[in-house]
Parts: sequence; structure tokens; C-alpha cells
Amino acid sequence: MTVAQIGARSFGRWLHALSPASVGFLAAGWLGVVAYEFLSGNTQAIAYEVIGLAGVGAIVVGLSRRTAEPRGAWRLFAAGLASEVLGDCISAYYEVHFGHEPPVPSTADIFYLAAPILFAIGIFLLLRELGAKMSRAVVLDAVIVVVALVTVQWVFVVEALVHESLSALRKADEIALPSFDILVLVALIQLVIGPTRRAVPYRMIGLSIFLLFLSDEIFLLTPQYDSGTWIDVGWLGSYVTLGAAALRPGVKRQAGVAKVGPQRLSGPRLAVLAAALLAVPAVLATERLEHHRIHTLVAAGGAALIAVLVLLRLAGLLRAVEQQNRDLRQLDRMKDDFVASVSHELRTPLTSIVGYVELLAEGASGPVNDAQRSDLDVVTRNTGRLLRLVNDLLFAAGLAEGRLDLRSDSVDLPGVVAHSVDTIRPVAAAGGLGLTFEADNNAYVTGDAGRLGQVVDNLVANAVKFTPPGGHVEVRVTRVADEVNVEVKDDGVGIPAADIPHLFDRFFRSSRALTDAVQGTGLGLYIAKTIVEAHGGTIEVVSSEGRGSTFRATFPVARPAV
Ligand code: ADP
Repeated sequence: MTVAQIGARSFGRWLHALSPASVGFLAAGWLGVVAYEFLSGNTQAIAYEVIGLAGVGAIVVGLSRRTAEPRGAWRLFAAGLASEVLGDCISAYYEVHFGHEPPVPSTADIFYLAAPILFAIGIFLLLRELGAKMSRAVVLDAVIVVVALVTVQWVFVVEALVHESLSALRKADEIALPSFDILVLVALIQLVIGPTRRAVPYRMIGLSIFLLFLSDEIFLLTPQYDSGTWIDVGWLGSYVTLGAAALRPGVKRQAGVAKVGPQRLSGPRLAVLAAALLAVPAVLATERLEHHRIHTLVAAGGAALIAVLVLLRLAGLLRAVEQQNRDLRQLDRMKDDFVASVSHELRTPLTSIVGYVELLAEGASGPVNDAQRSDLDVVTRNTGRLLRLVNDLLFAAGLAEGRLDLRSDSVDLPGVVAHSVDTIRPVAAAGGLGLTFEADNNAYVTGDAGRLGQVVDNLVANAVKFTPPGGHVEVRVTRVADEVNVEVKDDGVGIPAADIPHLFDRFFRSSRALTDAVQGTGLGLYIAKTIVEAHGGTIEVVSSEGRGSTFRATFPVARPAV
């Protein structure tokens, strides 16, 4: 798909998400804005008011048709927009009657100043109604942004106004707009990074408020404002976009609140914080490049405050993660306790079943015919498997708590391995596998013969289990210098590379074992590794999928007794 097609498709989706009334208003409104640029004099001044009033009208219609939801927020938006338009009307009156802008301060300013406050409260109301939570993290993020904005606004806009030789009232009036604009921008940022950012109507509200803010800022930075410039396009575009957003049905229902906690640093939230962090360096660089006076103290103060706030934010995140870890560990312990107690409860009846089945098979309760004996064999095999599983679970639970009692005897490792190989030989033969065993002499280690046998049993049983008929399993015990290696090599299914790092984790079963539905618990290698390491040894695996695996356990050779 070409870029143009992707663009056309997303534009189509946008249009679809808007309603015909909304699209119609948006199109007509923007046409009006473009036409406005070509008008002049009184007609232009009147056109300005008409577009503004149309915006207010659209919100009123939206409110009455219940497309503008949540209503509380939209009432404030309507009041904010009406306030702007009233200010505009007063300005237009001055322009038409006296041929100039109204003096500062004027009644128009009261309305201009009320607008950003109404918009900001409206956005906060909207966010609250849509379920955005006011947490410590959200407040901290907002304060960080406020500090960055105040620093920028102070250096580039407000400070010049403070030093102008104006009356106190006029100064207050001039400083009020940039200050209130900060409020709007903070609210806007919350909207943009908040849970509703993906829903079309909120994007429109965001765009509208952004245009308003942008025009206000350009207006404040422009030495001489004349009506009919691009600043007006921003303001009018803002009115039109807000009106169109109000005409889109089901605004509230479309919210699509994302389940992202504010503690988590989502991409947009991170971007906003990064911008806030870069604000002070950007201010300093701009001042230096533009040969302005450098506001060292303001910059230092702003940067210090932001640094402290960011630290607080990070501390909050860290604490949340620590708490989460504590909770997870607690859960893990609960799970282990549960598994251990269930296994414990299962072991007693199982042991009893095994005992009674043995008695039955021996004919203690009367003669047993061949068919019955074969059935009893099945019961014995399966209870044996269950008992091994329960024992593994109990053993693993003990290991997780650091319990592992080992004898410390001199063990003839080739003898232990030979015993394991002999035990599994019938299974290998039944599966059509070749099983070979070779061993060096004089390969003694110090440890627990029973536990070492458990390790080798597991490695050899796995090799047999994961090798298809016709394959080969080779078991070798070699003595190399001060070490004894037990190597179990097969040419079976092998292990996917991505699974190898997790192979010795508790309960891990490779994707291959799961898809092939091979029986197991994922405890064998975990237990094997723990036992090997408790003997001062290491265990490793080399494997490639489809070619086979080689497990090698290495132990230190037993020191001769002195
Ligand atoms: P279990 O065999 O009970 O599943 P283990 O801890 O013994 O548990 O083994 C974990 C996983 O390692 C197995 O599920 C299997 O996927 C893989 N595995 C172990 N040995 C082999 C082998 N020789 N060949 C292929 N995969 C193996």
C-alpha cells in the first residue's frame, strides 16, 4: 500500500468516525475561515463574529441533540467559546465604530480571560467523567509541565510585560492571558496523553484548544496585532473545530478508555516529560543564539525544580515497582505453599494405594488371574508415576526454600550411571532406540549417590523420551584431570534455541514438548541443576532443533582420603 493510499484510508476512517452533520459543519466552517481571509473592513469583522457564533450554535445544537457528551464539560466549552465570541464582538464594535482595537484593559479582556479558564475546567471535567484517575503521578507530571511552561512563558512573554511602563491594572491584564494559557495547555496535555487520546472527538477538542493556545501565544509575541492575519485563522479554526466535535454523536460512548495506569510511563507521557525536561536547555540556547539577555536565575530555578520533581516521579515509579515485586514474591510463596501442601496431602493416600495394589497383585486377598494382573500392572504404573510427580513437587518446593540435605559419601559415579542406564534400557528397547554406555574407571565423586542417581535418571529418561524410534542415546562417563563428566547425548527432536536459556527454570517445558504433548512437569532439569550445583558441579546443554541434544554434568573428582 502506498503512502497516499494509507493517508486516504485513515482520512476515510476519520470521516466515517465523524457524523455527516459534523463533517458538513467542519467543511463549511473551514471554507468560511478561508473566505474570511479574502474579506476586508467591516465585512471581515462581521464574518469573524458569524463564524464564532456558528461555533457556539453548533455546541448548543450538540447539547440539545445529546451528541455533545459529557454535558457538563460541553456546557463549559460552550460558555468558553461564547466568552471568546463576546470578547470578539466587543473588539469588533470598537473596530467598526472607532476604527481601532479596544483599549487595554477593556470589557473584552474580561471575556478573553474567562475563556481559557472555562476551557481548562471543561477539559478536567471531561477527563474526570471519562474515568481518568487523579493520582500522585498525574499531578506530578502536570506540575513538571507547568514549571517548564512557566519558565518558557516567563522568559519570552511575561518578563517583558512586567518591565513595561504600564499601569498596574493593564499589567495584570496583560500577564493574565499567558498565565491562563498555561492552565489550558496543561489541561490539553492531560487530554492528549490521557486515556481518551485515541478517540476522534477528543482529538478534535484537543486540536481546537491547541489552535486557540497557539494563536494566543503568537498574538502575545507579536508586537503589533492587525485583524485578518493568520492569527485569526488559528482562532476561527479553533471555534469551527470545537463546534464540529460537538455535533459528532456518541462522543462519550466512543471514548475507548485505555487501560493504562498513570504510573506507567506510556509513550506520549514520556514524550511530554522529555519535552518538559528539554524546555530549560532550549530556552537558554535560544537566548544565547538570539543574543537575548540570559535569564540565568529563572533558568536555574526552573531547572532545579524540574529536577526535583522528576526525581520524585522516579521515586514513585521505583516504589511502585518494588511494591509490585513484593506482591509477586508473596504470590509465588503462596503458590509454593499451596503446591507443597496439596502434594503432601496426596502422598499419603497414594502410598497406601501402591501398597494395597502390591498386596492384591501378590494374591494376599485371593488368587489373581492374568487379566486382573495386567490391569493391576496398569494401576501400579500410573500410581507410580503420580507418586514420582508428587515427590518431585515436594522436593522442588523444599529446594525453593533452600532445603537440600545431602549425604557426603565417596560415590562411584560410573556405577550410579550404569544403574540408571540399566533401569531405562527396557523403555529404550520398547521405543526402538539404541542405548549405549561407556565409562572410564576411577571416576569417584563426593556426594549423595541417591541424588546423583536422580540427576542421571532424569537426563537419560529425557533423552529417551525426546528421541523418536530408530534414534540413538549415548551415555558416557569420562574422567578429565580433576573432573568427572557425565554426558547424555541423543539424536532426537532437539530444543529450540529460544528455549535453551529457560531449560533449567522451574516448571519450564519447551514449546516442542508442549506441541508434541510429551508428558512431564518441567521440574526434572530444575531439580537436576540444583543437585549438581549442590555437589559443586555444573550442568550445560548443547542442542539444535531436529538434530538432537547433549547434556553434560561436570563434577569435581573426589579427593582421596588422607
Ligand atoms: P519434563 O521432562 O518433565 O518436561 P524437564 O525439566 O526434565 O521436564 O525438561 C524440561 C524441558 O526440556 C522438557 O519439557 C523438554 O522440552 C526439554 N528437554 C529436556 N531434555 C531434552 C532432550 N534430551 N531433548 C529435547 N528436549 C529436552
